Amino acid sequence: MENRKPRTRMVHGGTRRSRWNEVSEAIFLTQGFVYDSAEQAEQRFVSSGPDEYIYARYGNPTVAMFEERMALLEGAEDAFAAASGMAAVNGALTSMLKAGDHLVSARALFGSCLYIVEEILPRFGVEVTLVDGSDLDAWRAAVRPDTKAVFFESMSNPTLDLVDIEAVAKIAHAQDAVVIVDNVFSTPVFSRAVEQGADVVVYSSTKHIDGQGRTLGGVILGQREHIRGVVEPYMKHTGGSMSPFTAWVQLKGLETIDLRVRAQAGSAQAIAEAINGHDALEKVIYPGLPGHPQSDLARRQLGSGGTMLALELVGGKEAAFRFLNALEIVLISNNLGDAKSIVTHPATTTHQRLTAERRADLGIGDGLVRLSVGIEDTEDLIDDILSALDAV
Ligand SMILES: *Cc1c(COP(=O)(O)O)cnc(C)c1O
Repeated sequence: MENRKPRTRMVHGGTRRSRWNEVSEAIFLTQGFVYDSAEQAEQRFVSSGPDEYIYARYGNPTVAMFEERMALLEGAEDAFAAASGMAAVNGALTSMLKAGDHLVSARALFGSCLYIVEEILPRFGVEVTLVDGSDLDAWRAAVRPDTKAVFFESMSNPTLDLVDIEAVAKIAHAQDAVVIVDNVFSTPVFSRAVEQGADVVVYSSTKHIDGQGRTLGGVILGQREHIRGVVEPYMKHTGGSMSPFTAWVQLKGLETIDLRVRAQAGSAQAIAEAINGHDALEKVIYPGLPGHPQSDLARRQLGSGGTMLALELVGGKEAAFRFLNALEIVLISNNLGDAKSIVTHPATTTHQRLTAERRADLGIGDGLVRLSVGIEDTEDLIDDILSALDAV
């Protein structure tokens, strides 16, 4: 499959057929595996080869199919599937850090990622320096000879600030630091993070990979030696493995991810252009708009503006709530990457935990609304959003 195009790989990659030769991937809902003999059991615990399974927390055929297909999509050597995006982020960081290590992280992070970096890691003696991810001088000043890793979201939630993967990787690699990228908003369809210098790429597969809002999952991708030697032992012994059922649902998600995400990004671009300049809006944040301060970087790094928009409404929370309540197709919820378009008011939901000061620091004003564009008809979406803006 390595030399096939992404859409072909996403339909066929990683498939393992049982002796029944089923067309659609089987769900192996089993925790354990039977050995032919006591000797075989003993041998398997000494060293298990590929497709020799012991226990579902260690590995499972359906999960292995998902891991292999994900690695093909990302262009990474290997992958470990996790129970959720947060299990993946926590595993990617904690599996390789120890007391006395130094981590440099971008400040604009998903709330739970920030919790790990600010609360958990320091509790175990990891020193953390937070920087503005889009400021390369800040990265240069923060990365030191004892820096073990750098961590950032390549496109931040919810303000869609991009981090230049290639430039930050150059700074980090000069000090032998490992580059760990949370790539959810960039999506694995548009990502070229590995060739741009990321050593470890993490996804919440709950988002575009499931793509239809059904299951929680995550995945950690990287070089085989790192995934199998560092990540796997940590994940399989601490319990963050993906369930076979989730792997099966998300394998099906991978079959259609290229079609979905490209359609979503196409609609996002059309919506951004259609609503840009509306009276109810202070601004439209979309990296695919020529006026976005990082539109060149978005084009170079992703070749797309992505599937997410952020809108700053004139009139703060009251206007934002009026907009949300006037929408008829777009749902008020907090997932993203779903087939259904979803709108979120970060200040009162996902980022409510932060102080107003901290939110202002991160650019999350009371008028800010996050929009995840689904696969509905583009014109219907533009209609719905324009009507709701008119209602504000
Ligand atoms: C959703 C999300 C996560 C967490 O993923 P879960 O699957 O909800 O655990 C981490 N990082 C980013 C950027 C996300 O959007």
